[in-house]
Amino acid sequence: SLQYQPQISCLTGVTTGFETLMRWNNKKHGEIQPDIFVPLLEETGLIYSVGEWVVSQAVDFIRVNNIKDVIFSINLSALQCNDLTFVNYVRNTIASSGIDPSQIEFEITESLLIKDFDKTKLLLDEMHSIGCTIALDDFGTGYTSMNYLARLPIDIIKIDKALVHKIDVNNNLRSIVMAIVTMSDGLGIRNIFEGVETMAVLAVIKKMGGEVIQGFLFSKPLSAHNAVKWLDSVDTAKHA
Ligand code: C2E
Ligand code: CA
Ligand code: CA
Repeated sequence: SLQYQPQISCLTGVTTGFETLMRWNNKKHGEIQPDIFVPLLEETGLIYSVGEWVVSQAVDFIRVNNIKDVIFSINLSALQCNDLTFVNYVRNTIASSGIDPSQIEFEITESLLIKDFDKTKLLLDEMHSIGCTIALDDFGTGYTSMNYLARLPIDIIKIDKALVHKIDVNNNLRSIVMAIVTMSDGLGIRNIFEGVETMAVLAVIKKMGGEVIQGFLFSKPLSAHNAVKWLDSVDTAKHA
């Protein structure tokens, strides 16, 4: 199944998007986390069909619930990014659903950029031509080359929870994250802070001029049913 974790604007408190996160509900072992089963999907090659299934679930969710102006981000495995038939699947699924393509975003990690720059650039360009956006996930944990950031069509960077976690108490981390925010502003790239768990961290992010936050402070990943309830309550609050 898919779960949906809200992403919230620091400025307005509005829900700007959801990250879609896969779960495997196994009869024998109960709920299994993606860190365990995604590597198995990759090893067995099932990631291609399951990756398409994730796209169809997210697109259906938007269409069936008539959701507008909220972005759903989908995690991509490195293998999927070498597969241009995936782009066609995305294009056809979005077109036949009638949803706005800018409501779908793809999250890639930097390991992918390093593997095959030209192929990855081609895939990102194709996704943009459909009207989808691209987020660079887990930013700050690996070896991101600034050169890649300058040359690739990245719309958003997601600052990793390992950096965000202690910015209220660790001056070095705070300086690094501040530099990332300044850099992304300069490049015209938006930012999302992952793993925000406390009010103290949120206060630092607001002071830095952070844009969007995602984390347990606001909500854990929600079931489809609860994500709809979340959006309804936000709507009600707006109209109240
Ligand atoms: P990720 O993309 O970095 O996803 C964020 C993870 O951080 C999620 O774990 C989420 O539940 C967790 N998280 C969110 N807020 C907080 C917080 O405030 N504190 C802490 N400590 N954790 C927080 P999850 O759902 O277990 O996903 C783990 C990883 O599995 C994801 O990391 C992603 O790389 C992968 N994954 C999930 N769904 C998919 C999918 O559909 N396709 C692919 N290829 N990978 C997926
Ligand atoms: Ca992600
Ligand atoms: Ca992440």
